Amino acid sequence: MMNLDNEAEELASTLGVDKTEVKRDLENLVSYSVPLEEAKQSLRRKYGDGDDGSGPEPESKDLAEITPEDSNVTVTGRVLSVGKRSIRYQGADHTIFEGEIADETGKLSYTAWEDFDLEPGETIQAGNAGVREWEDSAELNLGESTSVEKLEETLQVPYEIGGDAALIDLEPGDRGVNAEVTVLECDRKVIDGRDGETEILSGVLADETARLPFTDWDPHSEIETGESVRIENTYVREFRGAPSVNVSEFSTVETLDRTVEATESAPRLSIRDALESGGMFDVEIVGDAIAVRDGSGLIERCPECGRIVQNGQCRTHGQVEPVEDLRTKAILDDGTGTVTAILDDELTAEIYGGDVDDAREHARDAMDKEVVADAIREAIVGRSFRVRGTLSIDEYGANLNATDFAAITDDPADRAAALLSEVDA
Ligand SMILES: [Zn+2]
Repeated sequence: MMNLDNEAEELASTLGVDKTEVKRDLENLVSYSVPLEEAKQSLRRKYGDGDDGSGPEPESKDLAEITPEDSNVTVTGRVLSVGKRSIRYQGADHTIFEGEIADETGKLSYTAWEDFDLEPGETIQAGNAGVREWEDSAELNLGESTSVEKLEETLQVPYEIGGDAALIDLEPGDRGVNAEVTVLECDRKVIDGRDGETEILSGVLADETARLPFTDWDPHSEIETGESVRIENTYVREFRGAPSVNVSEFSTVETLDRTVEATESAPRLSIRDALESGGMFDVEIVGDAIAVRDGSGLIERCPECGRIVQNGQCRTHGQVEPVEDLRTKAILDDGTGTVTAILDDELTAEIYGGDVDDAREHARDAMDKEVVADAIREAIVGRSFRVRGTLSIDEYGANLNATDFAAITDDPADRAAALLSEVDA
C-alpha cells in the first residue's frame, strides 16, 4: 500500500486527531477502491475540517509552471471554454464540467466535479485546485475542496475564448468545443448502450477545413444530411485512431441560415507529419509504392464477421464457407516515413485490371492464388501514388484505408505538391 502511513500521519496532524483512528479509516476507504484524494477529503469532512481542504492555501502558481508532480495549487486564470458532460463513476451518473483555462504564461485543461457556474471569458481564482496527470500533461481538478472566486479584473490572455474551433484543429481530448459544420452523412442506429438499447446518430461532418466523423448520443433533430448547423458543447474522442466529434444531451444544435462549405480536398501531409498527428479521418499523402504485403490479392473472408480466414477457419466462427474478396496492402514511402495503404475490392480491381471473378479464374488457371498479388505488385511497385483516406495508428501499425488511390503521371502540379509536402516537413 502506497505510504498510507505517511498520509495518515499528515492528515491526523492537520486535523489534530489521533493518527491510529485516521489510518484505520483511510485504509478502510482505500480498500473499497475509493481514490486516495477522495478518501482524505471524506475524512476531513468526518473530522470537521470544513470542506476547504487542509491547512493553508497551497502555493499560487503560473499555469506554465504546473506539472503533474504538483498536488494542489492556487491559480488565477481566464476560463476559455466550458463543456458539460455526464460520466458514470462508481455506478452513479455525475455531471462534470470541462474545458481550458489560461493565464499569460499558458493554458491547461480542467475538470470541475462541482457546478461552479463557470462561463467562458470570466477570470477566476481557484484556490486549492487538485492536479492530476491527463494525456501526458497536468490537468486541474476543481472539486469540493476547491474555492472558486470570480474576479472583477479581466486577465488578458493570448488565446481564443469561447471554444469555437475549425475541424482541422480538433484533437482527441478537446472539450467544450463549438463548431459550425455541414452534415455530409447521418445514419440512425440502435446500439446496446450502458442503459440498454439506445438510438444514436453517426456520420460525417465537414467545414471549410476538414471532415470528421461524429456520434450524437442524444439525437438532435437539427442534425440531418445536408444541413448546416452550429453545434455547441461537444467533446472530441479518438475513434479507430482518428478524432471524432461527440454530441451529447448537453450539446445545443442550431440550424444556420448560411451554408457551411464542405472542403473538397483532404489536407496533404508528408507521411511523417501524418503519422505524428496520431491519426486523421481524411488525409492525402503522396509516396512511392515500395512493396505489396502478404494478405493482398485474392483473399478469403468469413461470411459472418468479414475477417480473413485461412483454410476456411475463422478464429471466431470456426469452419465457414469463405467469401472471396480482393484487397491490396501497399507500403508507401515518401522519404519522410512509410505507411500501409489498404485498398478495398474496387480500388484493387482498378489496379489489378479485373474483378474478383477475373482473379478467381486467373488463380485457377495458374493453380496458384499468389498470381493475383504478383500482378498487383507488378502494376504498382516502383510507381508514385496519391492516396486519400483515413489514417489510423494502433498496435498493428499505421494503416491508411484508402478512398482514392491514383497513380501520379507526369502532372507537374502533383509533382510540385508532393515536393512541397516533403519540404514542409
Ligand atoms: Zn468469423
